[in-house]
Amino acid sequence: MARNVLVTGGGTGIGYAIARHFAEQGEAVVVTGRRAGPLKEAADRIGARAVVCDHTDPEALTRLLAELPGSVDVLVNNAGGNTDFDTDTASDVASDAAPDLASYAHDFRANLDANLVSAALTTKALEGRLAEGGAVVHIGSIAAARGGGSYGAAKAGLSTWNIDLARTLGARGITANVVAPGYIADTEFFRDRLTDERRTQLVTETAVDRPGSPEDVAGAVAFLASPAARHITGQVLHVNGGALPTR
Ligand code: NDP
Repeated sequence: MARNVLVTGGGTGIGYAIARHFAEQGEAVVVTGRRAGPLKEAADRIGARAVVCDHTDPEALTRLLAELPGSVDVLVNNAGGNTDFDTDTASDVASDAAPDLASYAHDFRANLDANLVSAALTTKALEGRLAEGGAVVHIGSIAAARGGGSYGAAKAGLSTWNIDLARTLGARGITANVVAPGYIADTEFFRDRLTDERRTQLVTETAVDRPGSPEDVAGAVAFLASPAARHITGQVLHVNGGALPTR
């Protein structure tokens, strides 16, 4: 029987590849996102259902629940991204200039909301509806281990929070894991944001000398959501081509 799969942020990039993977396996897939037009187009291409939802908004999540089937077998918390990509570094804190703390707090919290609170809220909303034997997979990041401002802190928090989640869900035979991608090319996350030099550097840092693809991440998520991974929970699976620290 087809499993019910929810992929948050499933209209683009990594989330879309994950949703397509499950749809091709014959699963019943729901994808979410904030932009209705592109989301619907993407969903139609793979025979999934589109539901507009901002995963940082508790009321939107309550509305999402009403749109979902009775139980959910696989929840993929993929929605996220670096909301402070261009400016957030530790040197912002260390600078001599008087810090604009209100603005710093706003920007820092935005990344926590987008990447950590959104996943926690979504999981909390769906907790009672997760099917026995099911799986929760969060999309973390290499930034959790290597640093990356408020974005990296949010992704690190996701991995830590997931340990408790795994304990809570374990009694019901539900696994909870994080897939932590390294540099994945060809998604909106990095599009128009990296110089050619930085792109080359990110590739050079990998052991395999190439960037990852959204499909590379989808394969890892599919494995963690499969019966073959039923004894794996509370873990972080790194999908980064053997990325090595350079400094
Ligand atoms: P994209 O920008 O293509 O994907 C992000 C998706 O999430 C979009 O579809 C976006 O749609 C959706 N989204 C973002 N915020 C929300 C929200 N609050 N509510 C609902 N949907 C939301 O980039 P990627 O595919 O690369 O990123 C997917 C995940 O992978 C992210 O969590 C990212 O942090 C992580 N990641 C990516 C890496 C990379 O190299 N690309 C590396 C490591 C981790 P919309 O704007 O319409 O809401």
